[in-house]
Amino acid sequence: MRLPESMTICEVGPRDGLQNEKQILSVQRKIKLINDVVNAGVKVVEIGSFVSPKAVPQLADTDEVAKGITRRPEVEYRALISNLKGAERAIFAGITKVKLTVSASESHNKSNWNRSTAEVIRGFDDVMELAAKNGLEVSGAISTAFGCPFEGNIPREQIMDLIQTFSSMGVTEISLSDTTGMAYPSQVYEISKIARELFPSVRFWLHLHNTRGLSMANIIAGMQAGIVRFDASFAGLGGCPYAPGASGNVATEDVIYMLDLMNIYTGINLNKMIEIARDVRQDVGHETESFILKAGKPLALSTRDTDKLQREV
Ligand code: MG
Repeated sequence: MRLPESMTICEVGPRDGLQNEKQILSVQRKIKLINDVVNAGVKVVEIGSFVSPKAVPQLADTDEVAKGITRRPEVEYRALISNLKGAERAIFAGITKVKLTVSASESHNKSNWNRSTAEVIRGFDDVMELAAKNGLEVSGAISTAFGCPFEGNIPREQIMDLIQTFSSMGVTEISLSDTTGMAYPSQVYEISKIARELFPSVRFWLHLHNTRGLSMANIIAGMQAGIVRFDASFAGLGGCPYAPGASGNVATEDVIYMLDLMNIYTGINLNKMIEIARDVRQDVGHETESFILKAGKPLALSTRDTDKLQREV
């Protein structure tokens, strides 16, 4: 297998996880969660979003959260935005990295932002201008890149066109997001491979949901295509708990568990992530989509632990 030595995991639980929960966590609790994941070794964390508080009341206080977290220089604290207003709020809250989002699907842009794809993109120029003036780094995200619940399959050219649009704006880091869990391994491999070949200077992320159980297989597929950056969410939060069949992002602790076994370095402590995920499960008050939380770790946790055991013996 083609295995990288290390991978970067972005913890998106504070944003993509908590935005779907009925239980709204306090500012203090969110701050503690973000500090905890950083203490567990996470180097990139999505702390919230600066979008309409009416649309996403769970994250209406991201401004306060941003001001309250302990900032470590080696850690990237990013927030999701969709327009100029979001960029303004991010700058005001002292955030230095945002993820500017557009959907690959026309219908999804309409339902999510109430604008057409062209309208969403037209707004990006102002964001880039404001960002440049204020030292705000902008990454891009293309949601429903692997399929849209309204439109089904998204033509590959449509995704590459959006990557091109971002690139021509000067965005060099782009997340391809499987927003509703429609991706499958051969598709993830092909899209990732083509995107990397066409845009060699872009750093790609994969954002995968486990709605239909394929997220881990999709990670492996992405890895085979050379992707080394993945989003994941503590306890597997995400998706909509009230939509039948919907489920969350791939669980951070499940991903770390697998990568530890495969000797792929993340710098994230699995035991600490499991503790955080347990706390989060208690916060939200329901069972979540995390296999390690449900099954627990086997005794010989990882090849590293196994090595250690063997050395001790
Ligand atoms: Mg998501």
